[in-house]
Amino acid sequence: MRVAVVGSGISGLGSAWLLSRAHEVTLFEADDRLGGHTHTVRTAWAGETYDVDAYAVDLAGNAQVIYSTVTNVKADFTPPVSTVTWPAHNSVVSVVVSSVVGQASDAPPGSVSSVRVSYFKCNDPSCNTGYWWNSASGNWNSATEIFYTASVNGTTWTATGVSTPT
Ligand SMILES: Cc1cc2nc3c(=O)[nH]c(=O)nc-3n(C[C@H](O)[C@H](O)[C@H](O)COP(=O)(O)OP(=O)(O)OC[C@H]3O[C@@H](n4cnc5c(N)ncnc54)[C@H](O)[C@@H]3O)c2cc1C
Repeated sequence: MRVAVVGSGISGLGSAWLLSRAHEVTLFEADDRLGGHTHTVRTAWAGETYDVDAYAVDLAGNAQVIYSTVTNVKADFTPPVSTVTWPAHNSVVSVVVSSVVGQASDAPPGSVSSVRVSYFKCNDPSCNTGYWWNSASGNWNSATEIFYTASVNGTTWTATGVSTPT
């Protein structure tokens, strides 16, 4: 028998799948995707605010009547951004670089907790080979990247002190 199923929600898909074992089924769907209202998506929007309720149930099945609640929980799923402002990109530096300075920020409700800095000494003009600064040995001898923590003050970060290459 030829059967028409209208709608590709769970009802239509389920019916069409079962009927297709014994019948010739044509599925009609008005939308440009299958599934109807079954459309679970995971979202991660920074700045959304949530409340969380909890209640306990004991082995006898007694449930806590008054929920414990936390409110005003803010979600932060966006990464922060940072830039190096000094030394400037493509600049020629004629003084000893005793500190590296930059800017860092994070979209609300996030806030920057740290900025990590690494230093790479180029061994060729294209900077394809070289070594990272290794403050433990005081040499440019690390084949793997080593990051050092800069201090953050508002939106400005500064890397200086023992981690700064000499
Ligand atoms: C916001 C929301 C949250 C939900 N959460 C849950 C949950 O957590 N757990 C749970 O079990 N259920 C949940 N449900 C219910 C569940 O999604 C629905 O019960 C189920 O999807 C209904 O399936 P259905 O096939 O009957 O209809 P629908 O999924 O609505 O499918 C109907 C399909 O028919 C199509 N259609 C309609 N008219 C025509 C036409 N003339 N020609 C061609 N195509 C047509 C529509 O485009 C649609 O694709 C939720 C529903 C909503 C709206």
